[in-house]
Amino acid sequence: MSRFWSDVIHRLTPYIPGEQPAHANPVKLNTNENPYPPSPRVVDAIRRELDQDTLRKYPDPESCALRQTVARYHGLSSEQVFVGNGSDEVLAHVFQALLKHDRPVRFPDISYSFYPVYARLYGVAFEAKPLDRDFTINIDDYAPSGGPVLLPNPNAPTGLALRLTDIARLLTENPGFVVVIDEAYVDFGAESAVTLIPSHPNLLVVQTTSKARSLAGMRVGFALGNEALIHALTRVKDSFNSYPIDRLAQVAAVAAYEDDAWFRMTCAKVVKSRERLAKGLRAQGFEVTPSTANFVFARHPARDATTLTALLRAQGIFVRHFDLPRINQHLRISVGTDDECDALLRSLRSILATYEPYPTTENI
Ligand SMILES: *Cc1c(COP(=O)(O)O)cnc(C)c1O
Repeated sequence: MSRFWSDVIHRLTPYIPGEQPAHANPVKLNTNENPYPPSPRVVDAIRRELDQDTLRKYPDPESCALRQTVARYHGLSSEQVFVGNGSDEVLAHVFQALLKHDRPVRFPDISYSFYPVYARLYGVAFEAKPLDRDFTINIDDYAPSGGPVLLPNPNAPTGLALRLTDIARLLTENPGFVVVIDEAYVDFGAESAVTLIPSHPNLLVVQTTSKARSLAGMRVGFALGNEALIHALTRVKDSFNSYPIDRLAQVAAVAAYEDDAWFRMTCAKVVKSRERLAKGLRAQGFEVTPSTANFVFARHPARDATTLTALLRAQGIFVRHFDLPRINQHLRISVGTDDECDALLRSLRSILATYEPYPTTENI
């Protein structure tokens, strides 16, 4: 607190990112990073860029080559692609440019916890719609025409996906409002809404290179949609930071999209390990939601999640725990390599064997 702060800063509740541990050799399953490195072509592209001695010059403010690459990949035009410094920045611009209207934006109560933070930062009214008891999104909460909609698909941190037919219905029933689908995890098993872009001018799809393309450290995210929506985002970008994607990030992201075989191979490995991890957790008594993402959402019926997180951390194993209503007994565990998942399962087995269950009546 300081008297120098503006009013809006006093009232903010900032997002808390997952820990980047100082631990020498952590088993890091807390921020949904990819356990595999990006394509070797990414490193080559960065080296080539460095060899050309270009870092003293500003990057392409429009990220033309990258937008063309991504447009071609999805069968869109460059004018239907916006690039931002991570999809977090893209989402921030979306709130400011497209979600501030006379009707509140609707998103799930259990969802990406950055959404309410952006809403408060930009003074955007919102309604958090409760998920059903089994954590599914009730599409009827959004379908009656009533305001913009923002849904992650698959949802975070539950990992549950919506069907494309439900998204199509939302778009049709809300023709006067933007529907934003945040597809940060879509490549691990959900259906992308990108195919609906040509038929729905109110659809904006947000994607990132951070999860499925192993480039969390590079900060490159996208919005895909009708030219008018993309133009709105570009107007915000050019009123905020006209060079948001640095030279290395631009060439790295192009190379990542050009190596589709690498992308498919690493996604398939993560999906396989996810199923193996979920099975291992269920064998130890955990309830695990059927995930289509690169993480699982699990709860032990007789062990406190805060304690489990702390005991795992003491062994150098990092998972994510959200101290929020309805999910404070869940752990969100990123899918690592099979070795990392095995280390987690081993630690859990010893923790469960030595630490007493608590009375299960408390655990509702
Ligand atoms: C990780 C994540 C993002 C942000 O990704 P960036 O690294 O900023 O591109 C956006 N939405 C959801 C739901 C995420 O989980």
